[in-house]
Amino acid sequence: MAVLSRLLRARTTISYTIRTFSSSYSTSPPPSSPENDVIKTPTDGRNVQWVFLGCPGVGKGTYASRLSKLLGVPHIATGDLVRDELNSKGPLSEQLSEIVNQGKLVSDHLIINLLSKRLEAGDAKGESGFILDGFPRTIRQAEILEGVTNIDLVINLKLREEALLAKCLGRRTCSQCGGNYNVACIDIKADNEKPAMYMPPLLPPSHCASKLITRSDDTEEVVKERLRIYNEKSRPVEEFYRKRGKLLEFDLPGGIPESWTKLLQLLNLDDHEDKRSAAA
Ligand code: ADP
Repeated sequence: MAVLSRLLRARTTISYTIRTFSSSYSTSPPPSSPENDVIKTPTDGRNVQWVFLGCPGVGKGTYASRLSKLLGVPHIATGDLVRDELNSKGPLSEQLSEIVNQGKLVSDHLIINLLSKRLEAGDAKGESGFILDGFPRTIRQAEILEGVTNIDLVINLKLREEALLAKCLGRRTCSQCGGNYNVACIDIKADNEKPAMYMPPLLPPSHCASKLITRSDDTEEVVKERLRIYNEKSRPVEEFYRKRGKLLEFDLPGGIPESWTKLLQLLNLDDHEDKRSAAA
């Protein structure tokens, strides 16, 4: 991963200097879906290198973190890296706070620097493989990543639009233990086109209940802007990976227990011996 982080840094510097992208995007192979046996084991025996895509509020963090425990690879969420940098009160934090609280994306250059630093730190601890959550979020980021390493699989989580806003507004974190909860109860009735959907709240235990905080960018106005930006800048990333035969679509069927079971089946991981502890 040290090589990967160095390459990532080098790529972003070069790309900003000569601004040559997009050729690989237009010469991609014909669309196909990932084969089930490819999903389970990368051919060269290394740990998985997976990416989670999906709108704000869809649950990328929840499922990426469970899979990372199951597969023994780090879960690297660029949103967390941004928030850590913001909370560090370092030279970038004021600038970052303004961007994040408007629902905008931070620059490709900055996000790649944060990701490179994280990969270097992981390498020093002997980490290998990864599940990326929230990266890449632009075509430029996807091209840079594709140029420096082989991503095995991209899981595209999908949830009905009407549930996304409610799920973002319902997110809560315990300021003491860092546990993530959701107080929203999603109960959508069936109509002619779509089945009913029920996602119960994920309520905190009593010792966390008085310590819950809400992310500063989880307000209605900012979430709507993040959804708009997702459609404009990140939706094309789905097509980028679809064309390369790496995109696995997953429509969340309901709450976490039901969705986790179905996701494991889709990934051929339903017999994995550690699945119980990962889901806990
Ligand atoms: P979301 O709930 O919208 O998926 P995240 O926690 O992933 O939120 O990210 C929070 C914020 O961090 C984003 O709104 C954006 O400002 C910034 N961010 C995270 N990842 C990236 C990225 N890959 N590129 C640019 N900005 C990013």
